[in-house]
Amino acid sequence: LAKESGKNSFRFYTSELSLETEERLNIDIALHSALEKNEIYVVFQPQYNLETKKIVSVETLVRWENDTLGFVAPDKFIPIAEDNGFIIELGYFIFEESCKAFKQMKASGLELQRIAINVSSIQFKEPNLLEALISIVKRHELEASEIEIEITERFLMENTDKNIKTLQSFRDYGFKISIDDFGTGYSSMSYLKQLPIDTIKIDKSFVDDIGENSSDNAIIEAIVALSKKLNYSIVAEGIETGSQEQFLESIKCDIGQGYLFSRPILVEELIARFR
Ligand code: C2E
Ligand code: MG
Ligand code: MG
Ligand code: MG
Repeated sequence: LAKESGKNSFRFYTSELSLETEERLNIDIALHSALEKNEIYVVFQPQYNLETKKIVSVETLVRWENDTLGFVAPDKFIPIAEDNGFIIELGYFIFEESCKAFKQMKASGLELQRIAINVSSIQFKEPNLLEALISIVKRHELEASEIEIEITERFLMENTDKNIKTLQSFRDYGFKISIDDFGTGYSSMSYLKQLPIDTIKIDKSFVDDIGENSSDNAIIEAIVALSKKLNYSIVAEGIETGSQEQFLESIKCDIGQGYLFSRPILVEELIARFR
C-alpha cells in the first residue's frame, strides 16, 4: 500500500510540475507578442493623504489580457518577463504609458504630487536606464521629481554598494525612490538610515494584521516612527478596512493605498471620479 500511494503521489507531483512548466512556457511565448497585439495596458491606484483624505498620488500597475490565457496576474508574468528579458521592453512601455497618463491627469485638473512606477531590479542592469527614463520624462514635459520609482527590498539586498550608487544617481537627477513591500525582505532597521530613498511602503501583510494583536501593531508603529525620524515619507499598502485606516492615521502614517479607497482603475475612470 505504501508503495502504491508513494507511486501515486509521485505521479501527482510530476503532473503538477509539468502543468506548471507548460503554463510558464505558454506565458513565455505569448508575452513576446503581447505588446504588438495591444494586450498590455496600465491601471492606476490612488494614494491618499490619511489626514486630509485627499488623493495625492497614484501607483501604476500593469495588466495583461490574452485571447487564450485570459487575464494573467502580474505576480505571475513579471517574474517570467524578468527571466526571458522581455521586462526591458515592457518596463519602457509601462514608464511611457505612466508619463502619458500622468500628464492627462494633471491636464484634467487633478492635483497630484507624483506618480509611482514599479521598476524591476532587472531593468537596473541596463547601463543606460537613467538616460532613457530622463528622455521619456522630458518628452512628456514632466519633472523627474514627479516620478517615484518603486524598487523591491531585494534589489537593495543584492549587490548593495553598486545598487545604492545606482539609486543615488537617480536621486541626484531628482527622481524619488520608494522601497516597496517593506518588511518582507531582510534589510535591518539600522541599515535604513544610509539608504538613498524617499519613501517606505509598508507591506500589506503588516496592514492585514492590524488590530489582531498588539505586537503586530507595535511593529508597524515602530516602522512609522523610525521612518519619520529619518525623514522618509511612509505609505501603507493594502488597506481594506476602516479600522486599519483609523489605526494608521492615529500613528501618523502619511499615505494610504488599498481597496478601501479604490481598486486600480483606468486613467479615464480616475479622471471622471476625481475631477
Ligand atoms: P505591488 O507593487 O506591491 O502592488 C500592490 C499590489 O496589491 C497590486 O497587485 C494591487 O492591485 C494590490 N492591492 C492594492 N490594494 C489592495 C488591497 O486593498 N487588497 C488586496 N488584496 N490587494 C491590493 P497587482 O496589480 O496584482 O500587482 C502585483 C505585483 O506585481 C506588484 O506588487 C508588483 O510587484 C508587480 N507589478 C505590478 N505592476 C507592475 C509593473 O508595472 N512593473 C513591475 N516591475 N512590477 C509590477
Ligand atoms: Mg508597488
Ligand atoms: Mg507593494
Ligand atoms: Mg507586491
